[in-house]
Order: sequence, then C-alpha cells, then structure tokens
Amino acid sequence: MSTEPRLVEVRRNILKHNDVIAAELRKRFREAGVYTVSLVSSPGSGKTAFLEKTLSLLGRNHRVAALVGDLATENDAARLRRSQAPVKQITTGTVCHLEAAMVRGALDEWNLDDLDFLFIENVGNLVCPSSYDLGENLRLVLLSVTEGEDKPLKYPTIFNTADVAVITKIDLAGAVEFDWETVLSNIQAVRPKMEVLRVSAKTGEGLDEWQRFLEARLRP
Ligand code: MG
Ligand code: ZN
Repeated sequence: MSTEPRLVEVRRNILKHNDVIAAELRKRFREAGVYTVSLVSSPGSGKTAFLEKTLSLLGRNHRVAALVGDLATENDAARLRRSQAPVKQITTGTVCHLEAAMVRGALDEWNLDDLDFLFIENVGNLVCPSSYDLGENLRLVLLSVTEGEDKPLKYPTIFNTADVAVITKIDLAGAVEFDWETVLSNIQAVRPKMEVLRVSAKTGEGLDEWQRFLEARLRP
C-alpha cells in the first residue's frame, strides 16, 4: 500500500502534464524555426531591462517577440513594448512561476512562422521555475552583482536546469565590491563548465557578445 502523501502525487501529475505540453511547444517552435529563450531570476535582477535591450538590438535584423510573466500588473510588458517588438503579458495571479500551458495560451494569436526569436521572461523566483519546462531552446538564469556571490550555492537546482548564467548590472560591480572569482567558482561548483555572460543593460557592456551568442544559434 502506498503511504505517499496525496499532495506529492498531485504535484507529480501536474508536472507530467506540463512536460507533455512543453514537448508540444518545443515541436511547434522547431517547426516554425523560432529560437526560444527563457529568463529566470530573483525579482529585481534586471530581467526586464536586459530583455528590453535585447529586443531592441536583435529587432534591427531579426523578428523578435516576448512573453512576460508576473503575478500582477502589465508594467513589464509596457516597458518591453518600447522596443517596438510584439509583447504579451501573462498575469499569473497567485502562481509564482510560468507553466507550459500559460505559454501555449499566450501564443494563441501569434503566428510563430513570423518569428526568429521568442523570449519568455518568467516570474521572478529562483525556486519553482526550475521544475517547469516551457519548451524553450535555451534557459538563462540571471544573477545581478547586487545580489551577492552565493546565490548559486543557495539555489543550485535553478542553476542546474539553466543552460547559461548571465551576470547583470556589472556597471555596479565595483560599488558593491562584487567578488568575481567567488561567484565564478560558486557557479562552477554547482554546474561545472556552465557558460557565464556578463552584461550591463545600462552601459551596454557585454550586449555585443550576447547578440553574437544568440545569432550563432539561428539556423542557417
Ligand atoms: Mg520583470
Ligand atoms: Zn511557483
């Protein structure tokens, strides 16, 4: 007889259901030739500022769009729309992460064939987004220099489910005495060989490299 708590069982089924939808999404993205990038971080790590710059830069030569998740408000979508890219807000209410079904719902009115890149900004949260596949090709975990160096050690799962770490707000690194060596060794301890990018949405530092990184992933 199973003594497994009911809640665990329910949660497992929800995750399985999410994986089925995520696999469908991944197939649609592949067939449409759209490269999909999701962004996860704590609240206030600069996801929206980084994404706004990314949409503006990349939008010069490519067709880009973004979905942005938040518990409440359309503020981030309004900010991102300044880039001229199509943007849709997903308001999750009490749910502290995006799920594949929310992404699917938000894409209803969009023709994916018209896009080269789709960005998905997750709700600010370093815990449960790690459990939800969104069908993305690439998952970024962002970490700002103002958060300190030990986030990778405190939230190893999110670093393990992400493909690339992006250190943001590097223009402030000196002011907060950010310890690069420590943060890099913490990331390597959790996820050996993880690629790390460094950017400042404010000064633009590192954005060229980021743009080249993305363009190298487009199909010829
Ligand atoms: Mg945001
Ligand atoms: Zn959550």
